[in-house]
Order: sequence, then structure tokens, then C-alpha cells
Amino acid sequence: MTQIEQLAEWVGDGGVVVLSGAGLSTESGIPDYRGPSGVARGGTPMTYQVFTRDPLARRRYWARSHLGWRTIGDARPNAGHRAVARLQELARVDGIITQNVDGLHQAGGAHGVVELHGNLARITCLGCGDGTSRHEHEARLGAANPGFAAAVSAINPDGDAEIDDAELAGFAVVDCAACGGLLKPDVVYFGETVPAERVSRSFDLVAGARTLLVLGSSLTVMSGRRFVLRAAKDGIRVAIVNQGVTRGEPYAGLIVDAALGEVLPELVRRVEGVAVPG
Ligand SMILES: [Zn+2]
Repeated sequence: MTQIEQLAEWVGDGGVVVLSGAGLSTESGIPDYRGPSGVARGGTPMTYQVFTRDPLARRRYWARSHLGWRTIGDARPNAGHRAVARLQELARVDGIITQNVDGLHQAGGAHGVVELHGNLARITCLGCGDGTSRHEHEARLGAANPGFAAAVSAINPDGDAEIDDAELAGFAVVDCAACGGLLKPDVVYFGETVPAERVSRSFDLVAGARTLLVLGSSLTVMSGRRFVLRAAKDGIRVAIVNQGVTRGEPYAGLIVDAALGEVLPELVRRVEGVAVPG
């Protein structure tokens, strides 16, 4: 039996919970931190402590995020996202947990997605808790910084555009329109903990799964890997579709190292039972 046949059999059984990572969105034009080459991003991701305490770091963050949003905000779901939504519609996928902050699962038609690390499309005030849309916030940033542009050397999946620090000069940050408080994207920064409610919802989903299907995650960070560890401990099948190395290898009964945009639509075809036997 080929790997794709095996995967189609497991998924066909239903009770699948998906855990997705950056590799699912690369085909939408959002680069992974670590692509198949295994090269990690340059620089250090923002931490909550630095963001809240250092006005210069905050200006740097928002300038880079303002530029990066042009890529993230324009990204469209790819064949992999649509396949996951279709498997949910076919009642094979019971739950979706994502490490991605791009909202592309929902844009691809999926519902009830647990966004472990939040969503870049939402902005929260750290003072009054007021929530605003990214769209509105971007309009305010644009108005405060007419004509701001910089040469972007790379974009990270958290919407961080890499630019030279010299280009930051004069960039104005905007604060909460209601209370003047600090605005932060509704995403979990490096070193921040994932809200307990999202973690417990995710563990509940995994506990009820027949198969945990990891899509496009190297499982480098514990916030995602812990669900694989739990599944393996509970005797739940673990399947991984990922391009490149994965730290989930010791726990997976099945690993498919291939492009998600090809594997997942093929999986849908097989589950729908219309595949031509090959
Ligand atoms: Zn506020």
C-alpha cells in the first residue's frame, strides 16, 4: 500500500483532527520560517516584554508589520486549505487546530478553527481591551504615515517584513482611538503563553480523535508538538504531511514528505471515491 493509500484509509475512517503549521500556507505565498532547506529566519521575533516596554521596538514592529500586511492580507487560500475544508464538509475532519495566524483555513471554507497563536487580522488594545479590525488599523497607520515605503528583503509568516532599521526613521505608531492605550495584534508573541482556553479546547479535540493529522508543521515549537506527544501517549494515530524534516517523526505512524497542495486534493479525491485506481 502506498503512503497516500494508507493516508486515505485513515482519513476515510473519519474522526480526524488537523494540526496545521506554516507549511500549509507557503503555497499561498506566505513563506515558512523554515522551508525545505531548513534555513531559519534572520533576526529575533518580537516578545511581549520588548513590545510593551520599548517604544522604539514598537515602532519597528508596526512599520515592518504595516509593510508585511500587504503580503499576508492579500494572501488567498490554496488547494490545501480548500481540501481541509472539504474533508470537514465530508465529516471526516472533526476539528482544526492551527499554528498559523493568517486566517486562511476560514477563508478556504473551514469553520470552528482553533487559532492557537491568534490572528493577525484582529487588533487588541492592551489598555481597554477594545478590539478593532486590521483593515481599520491599517487605514489609520497609512493616514499617519503617508508615502511610507521601504525595501523589503523578506516576509515572515507572522507578517513581519524584514527592512533595514535606517528605513524606520519617522514612522509614526498609532494608539487606541478610545483610550490612547497600546495596540497589539491579537497574536501570541514569542515567549507568550497560548491562552488556556485554546489549549484545553485543543487537547479535548485531540482526546476525541481517531487520527491526528499534522499538516505543514515541522513541530519545532512545543505549543504544537505537545498535541502530537499527547496523541501518541493516548494511542491515537499520528499522520504527518510535511515537506522536509519534522520533529514528530518518532510519534508518527505515517509520514508523507510531499507538497501539501498536491497531496491534500488527491486525498479528497480518494475519500470521495472518485480516484482512478493507479
Ligand atoms: Zn483602548
